[in-house]
Amino acid sequence: MNVILLGKPGSGKGTAGIEIAKDFNFKLISTGDLLRQEKSSGSTIGKQIESIMDRGDLVSDDIINDIIEQELSKPLPIDMYYLFDGYPRTISQARRLDEMLNISAVVYFDVDDATIAERIEQRGKKSGREDDQDSDTTKCRLENYYNDTQPVVDLYENSDRLYKVDASKSAISVYLQIKQLINKLNKEEEEEDNGIY
Ligand code: AMP
Repeated sequence: MNVILLGKPGSGKGTAGIEIAKDFNFKLISTGDLLRQEKSSGSTIGKQIESIMDRGDLVSDDIINDIIEQELSKPLPIDMYYLFDGYPRTISQARRLDEMLNISAVVYFDVDDATIAERIEQRGKKSGREDDQDSDTTKCRLENYYNDTQPVVDLYENSDRLYKVDASKSAISVYLQIKQLINKLNKEEEEEDNGIY
C-alpha cells in the first residue's frame, strides 16, 4: 500500500513520516528533503530552485516530476511500498503520480493556520531553514498551499482515499493516529485479498 502524507507546511508530516516509515518499512520520499539536498549540492538545478524555495514558492512541476521519476526508477524490494511526504502538492503532480503508482491512502494532517504559523516560527529557531525564518515567507507558503495543494486534498477526498488525522495534537499523538489508521487499512486490505469481503 503506497501512502501520501498531505497537509499544510509545518503540519508535522516530516516528523511523523520518519517514524511511520521505520515502523512499516516504507521507502520514505520527501521532496522537500530531496530539493534541499539538490540546493546544497550547488548543482545547476540546485541554483535554479534556491531562491524559489527560500521565498516559499513551489518548485516547477517539471523539476518535481523528474525527481520523482528518478526515485521511482530505483529498485524497491517486493514487499516495500512508498510513503510520500510533501508530494504531490499540485493537481498536475497528483495526476502524474496516479499514472505511475497505485495510491490507496492519503493521510491528511488537519490543523489551523494560527498553529502552523506558531510551529514554523518555533521550528525556524532550530532548523536553520531559510523558509522558516519570517512570517511573510510562512504566509506565502500558506497561500501556495490554498491555491495549489487544497485542490489536491479535494481530489483525493472525492476519490475516497483521504483519511484525516488531528494534527493540532502532539507529535506522538499524530504518530499514533497514523499508525492505527495504517494498521486498520492493512488489515482491511488483507481481508479483501483473502476474499472475506
Ligand atoms: P517541505 O520541506 O515539504 O516544506 O518543502 C520545502 C520547499 O520545497 C517548499 O516550500 C517548496 O519550495 C519545495 N517543495 C517541496 N515539495 C514540493 C513539491 N511537491 N512541489 C513543489 N515544490 C516543492
